[in-house]
Amino acid sequence: MTAPAEPYLLTPGPLTTAASTKEAMLRDWGSWDGDFRAMTAQLRRSLLDIAGDVDDVDGEYDCVPLQGSGSYCVEAMLGSFVPRDGHALVLANGAYGKRIATTLRYLGRRHTVHDTGDYLPPRAADVELILAANAEITHVVVVHCETSSGILNPIEEIAAVTARAGRRLLIDSMSAFGAVALDVRTLPCDAFVSSANKCIEGVPGFGFVIAKKDVLRDAKGNSHSLALDIHDQWEVMNRTGQWRFTPPTHAVAAFIEALRLHALEGGQPGRLARYTRNRDVLVAGMGSLGFEPLLTGQWRSPIIVTFFSPADPAFNFERFYELMKTQGFIIYPGKLTTVESFRIGCIGALDETVMRQVIEACRNALGTLGVTSGAPAPAALGKREALAA
Ligand SMILES: *Cc1c(COP(=O)(O)O)cnc(C)c1O
Repeated sequence: MTAPAEPYLLTPGPLTTAASTKEAMLRDWGSWDGDFRAMTAQLRRSLLDIAGDVDDVDGEYDCVPLQGSGSYCVEAMLGSFVPRDGHALVLANGAYGKRIATTLRYLGRRHTVHDTGDYLPPRAADVELILAANAEITHVVVVHCETSSGILNPIEEIAAVTARAGRRLLIDSMSAFGAVALDVRTLPCDAFVSSANKCIEGVPGFGFVIAKKDVLRDAKGNSHSLALDIHDQWEVMNRTGQWRFTPPTHAVAAFIEALRLHALEGGQPGRLARYTRNRDVLVAGMGSLGFEPLLTGQWRSPIIVTFFSPADPAFNFERFYELMKTQGFIIYPGKLTTVESFRIGCIGALDETVMRQVIEACRNALGTLGVTSGAPAPAALGKREALAA
């Protein structure tokens, strides 16, 4: 097999984008120009549609795009919506949950962390107990797909229990929105956040917050930061149709094309079907080489899969990575704290045919390394059994 001109990015953002998405960037736009303002309006409207807020005029939610990577939007959401005298309960089970807690520490917002480790989801019963015992908690913050392990957290049950306890919910749906259902008609939340270069398959440069209009209104004066003030960005954008500061014009143009391809594929359900197929072909193929995924089926997302590193002493991740790269595939190192692992993403402009090529590339790489099986050490598997129990 000869490698393509540029490698496939089997990484959860930036990811491989369609040729037409890249081509959409081959011209320049004035930020104040009517054409670009129309693109911004279209982008906001399309994202609200995907979120299920389908009423153009009287919708309950609004969409506020913001310059920067996804973490800028998470920080903007936390700083704008958790008031200075608020108290957030952070449900952490990986690097992105931990980043939320770190961000709140920087912001000087009171917070409590409920950490379930690398591969266990937060459960409604535990959250219910914590909220019952801590009347001062005003907000619950949860990660939708925790990209560090690939676990798909049960945000529906978390949303239900949070609403029952009369608290507010903020969601980091960075690596899920657009592929995994997040419909504001059935999932009560104050706000959630995602970014251009994840499941909508745009290029990096901005993210967006989708929030209730009354929450946006009430956020006035909360933010610690001018650049990250979601209320101000919203207010100015609604008044002028423009971004407050220099917008990522080319990334927005690419995103408009990415949204067109998203709709063409059948919207969120269509995208989910392709990613699910990618994941299933990947997991089955890796299984035929002896590899074992970290997560049991119930929690395994269609976004990214963590595999245990093989127990065979001939396995070396850096060499494996390079051998995959020379065959045209960029994979991802693991992000677990207790066991050796690596990750392969299922998202981006690629399909099951590409996934079959990934498996062949893995087979070749193992052969070159002299690794006879991808099977992990039994001790690693023991962790997974604990998860299933
Ligand atoms: C990608 C991602 C982010 C944001 O990361 P950036 O590098 O700042 O774009 C946040 N949360 C999750 C769950 C993610 O997958």
